[in-house]
Amino acid sequence: MTLPTDLNAPLFDRAKALIPGGVNSPVRAFRAVGGTPRFITRGQGAYIWDANGQRFIDYIGSWGPMILGHGHPAVLQAVHKAIGEGLSFGAPTEREVELAEAILRHLPSMEMLRLVSSGTEAGMSAIRLARGATGRSKIIKFNGCYHGHADALLVKAGSGLATFGHATSAGVPEVVVQDTLVLEYNDVAQLEEAFALHGASIACVIMEPIAGNMNFVRASIPFMRRARELCTRHGALLILDEVMTGFRVALGGAQSLYAQAIPGFEPDLTVLGKVIGGGMPLAAFGGKRAVMEQLAPLGPVYQAGTLSGNPVATACGLATLREVAQPGFYEALARRTRSLIEGLAQAARAEGVALCGDSEGGMMGFFLLPELPRDYPAVLRSDGARFNRLFHGLLDRGVYIAPALYEAGFVSAAHTAEDVEATVAAARKVFAQLAAQ
Ligand SMILES: *Cc1c(COP(=O)(O)O)cnc(C)c1O
Repeated sequence: MTLPTDLNAPLFDRAKALIPGGVNSPVRAFRAVGGTPRFITRGQGAYIWDANGQRFIDYIGSWGPMILGHGHPAVLQAVHKAIGEGLSFGAPTEREVELAEAILRHLPSMEMLRLVSSGTEAGMSAIRLARGATGRSKIIKFNGCYHGHADALLVKAGSGLATFGHATSAGVPEVVVQDTLVLEYNDVAQLEEAFALHGASIACVIMEPIAGNMNFVRASIPFMRRARELCTRHGALLILDEVMTGFRVALGGAQSLYAQAIPGFEPDLTVLGKVIGGGMPLAAFGGKRAVMEQLAPLGPVYQAGTLSGNPVATACGLATLREVAQPGFYEALARRTRSLIEGLAQAARAEGVALCGDSEGGMMGFFLLPELPRDYPAVLRSDGARFNRLFHGLLDRGVYIAPALYEAGFVSAAHTAEDVEATVAAARKVFAQLAAQ
């Protein structure tokens, strides 16, 4: 719906003249769903406002970091204080140590970590470390999992297990992805076969434990167990990319949930981002001491960053982690999130629309499909055109979900039962339209 006084469109035109596609990260451009992206002017609690002054209930939350909602007073206070003390020093600060302590306290698989500025950087560095620590070059990733835009990870499957990947982006030479093997998520047999063929040269397996970049697909327990066993047996490192799930699905990350189901389960390396920065550029990777000590300046694996451990970002992250560590935080968040997914499923059922969903902590996903997909090809069976009508119907009614069907959604501690009710009521109207078409 373009209002007569729409201020988003002229902003988008100005942006497009200077910034490729008008955006600084592709999904923001609404290419998948069509229409004009909303230019956001401010956020407070569960809401964001666009240039027209329209209010939206925000289920993107900056793609995950805003677990407390926008403008949480304790976070703002910590950031204001930090800003007054200095923006960046390029020298160590106590706050970096405090943040490391705050993270490691909740993730027993990690004995040491290093702070960086983005999830991409953390994932890329974790892979370099895994290769350096093992002296091997091949890596395994899974179709539909996203680990940032490092060259070696912009890859799709080759034509069989003996052939390695093909680059999915121009500008990535084939030699850079020729050591990346792309397998189907949740396919135990394929993973076994890959290790049988290449086991001695595999440095690491990297995966999202709950894949939020195919909306919401859980690694099955047998799949996770087997991945762990195969890595251990063949001397490869298991890297869990918890950039999205870390401090989002549970205080101990998704790995704490798998550890409940698989006795002794631990990843070798963990990649974190999003929530640990509370909305500022901050990410981390870490794991066992012996592996982490391979990093410069102690070891031969180089890794560095001018703004790494930035004093304002670490203040923001610390204040955020202090809030989420309060007793009962994740239980309440999980209940609210589950109530939204259940509400949506009920509303869809009432209107005769096939919908299924899942959630964990404050992370959720739903599909216009009769049953939950287990891998990327199944996700792709969703009806894109239908999703786009749902997206725009919700947006027009003041509900902002991700503008692409492969993206997870996020509920914050600021979302109230009334917000969930209003969302479900809006969705029911859109489902009725979908059913009529
Ligand atoms: C967001 C995300 C990344 C990339 O993080 P950036 O900060 O955007 O570079 C990596 N892995 C996962 C699982 C993510 O969700």
